[in-house]
Amino acid sequence: MILSILSLSTRYAGCLRSAIKMQRSISTVIKGPFNFVENARCEPVDKFNDVDNLEPSSGKVLHKFGSSGANEVNRAVEAAKNAYEEWSKLTAGERGVFLKKAANIIESNVEAIAKMEVQDSGKPIWEARIDVQSVADTLNYFASVVPEAMKGTYSPQPGGSYALVQREPVGVCVGVGAWNYPIQTCVWKTAPALACGNTFVYKPSPLTPVTAVVLGEALAAAGVPSGVYGVVQGEGETGHLLCSHPDVAKVSFTGSVPTGSKIMTDAAASIKKVTMELGGKSPLIIFEDADIANAVRGAMLANFLSQGQVCNNGTRVFVHKSIKEKFTAALVEACKKLRVGDPMLDDTTVGATVCRQQFDKVLGFIERAKKEGGKILCGGEQVTLPGDLSGGCYLQPCIVDCPSDSMELVREEVFGAVLALLEFSTEEEVVRRANDTRYGLSAGLFTRDLSRAHRVMSRLQAGACFINTYNVMPVGVPFGGYKMSGFGRENGVEAVASYTQLKSVYVETGDVDAAPLCD
Ligand code: NAD
Repeated sequence: MILSILSLSTRYAGCLRSAIKMQRSISTVIKGPFNFVENARCEPVDKFNDVDNLEPSSGKVLHKFGSSGANEVNRAVEAAKNAYEEWSKLTAGERGVFLKKAANIIESNVEAIAKMEVQDSGKPIWEARIDVQSVADTLNYFASVVPEAMKGTYSPQPGGSYALVQREPVGVCVGVGAWNYPIQTCVWKTAPALACGNTFVYKPSPLTPVTAVVLGEALAAAGVPSGVYGVVQGEGETGHLLCSHPDVAKVSFTGSVPTGSKIMTDAAASIKKVTMELGGKSPLIIFEDADIANAVRGAMLANFLSQGQVCNNGTRVFVHKSIKEKFTAALVEACKKLRVGDPMLDDTTVGATVCRQQFDKVLGFIERAKKEGGKILCGGEQVTLPGDLSGGCYLQPCIVDCPSDSMELVREEVFGAVLALLEFSTEEEVVRRANDTRYGLSAGLFTRDLSRAHRVMSRLQAGACFINTYNVMPVGVPFGGYKMSGFGRENGVEAVASYTQLKSVYVETGDVDAAPLCD
């Protein structure tokens, strides 16, 4: 014990002392304010409008919060900048100890945080529990792998000289996120950023402001120094202020293609590193030799988690014409069994759409699909729940048999529980049709023929691919898109490259040879 304390660096010991003094705990019910600067919840010092924090399950306003203005964004970035020197000088192993403590705090509070996530996002509680547990897993993963991944290399040079290649953090990083996996999206950025020695400011979606702050409380309670992690709330303008801030070195974005494009323009002005996790319209191919029961389970996983609001969903399901009837009957039966209801109840499988605007957008896609010749095989109608939940937006998950790839439903991302079913005849044809999209986030296929599985997979233009399963995303495996679905990778050891830069140091051990410039 004495030896291990003596081996601590003084900086690390200082952080630990302040952690012991703080002894904070995390919130277990939703409460404002929702900004988090210098390890404390706070109201923005300036705000330019009020945003309603709605509870999707009831449609009621839980809280109001202000969109952070330029002064608040400057304050959060300044705090992150001030914290950078101390945090970046810790070893990756020392930083990992804090992240592991935060993981323990999250793990001890999974149920309470999951309930807050349900209230904020409308997803069913069983899914929220998985999301929150994955937050602890992500913190533990990066705490463990970054010390090894940050190791540099030694390269011998002539005459005993040598070069060192060191991996260093980049500085203040920012993240901007979407609303479908609020705390998970936040931690996928925060954990690698912090483990690599950066400081980080996050802007959640204005639709789901709650749990990014709870993550901040867990990090603070674990002893992460003030300013290392911050949260500013707001809409697009706040995001723009953050992504164009001159003191920010890197932006990691999760959201739609049009917003990603704007953020890249903002980042270009000051040459910031960027990671883009954008939308998708991914194919799932069911070959004639597929195990039908597994293929149906795969198609359900690929379409109906989180009310269908999942970026990498396989929403274009291509099924071989010889098994279409059998597969479709089983799929429709499974879809009809989904239980739409109160997301807080354990036996609910489908919760509430995040907001009225998104719900109307999804209904619009279904209506236009009908006009374009789509046949509704099941669902697609609003479900009205009794009592307090009557103000929520609930959709019976929908399967549409689509006669043509040119239908809007087949081409555009819906971000809702609507599966487009398509028929194909040959492998060559289905590969061409699967790739006929500007997106390239994910792709999946079901077949018993492993040679075909790999042959087809090698031709599919997507970053996250699945053979005989779908939507399985372990934290150790990199995730990200091809084409307009983005670039850069989250998760896996590959994420370390996004949050670090390389420094090459040449060391001369003999005399300097400057001939013919000098004697
Ligand atoms: P969105 O693009 O509308 O908003 C995402 C975030 O960007 C929000 O926090 C928003 O406030 C912010 N924002 C808006 N304008 C901005 C600007 N000019 N500068 C900076 N920030 C700005 O997306 P959404 O509706 O929240 O999420 C749905 C989209 O996200 C879908 O397209 C979905 O596929 C995608 N998504 C992708 C992934 C992935 O990992 N690839 C994961 C989840 C969601």
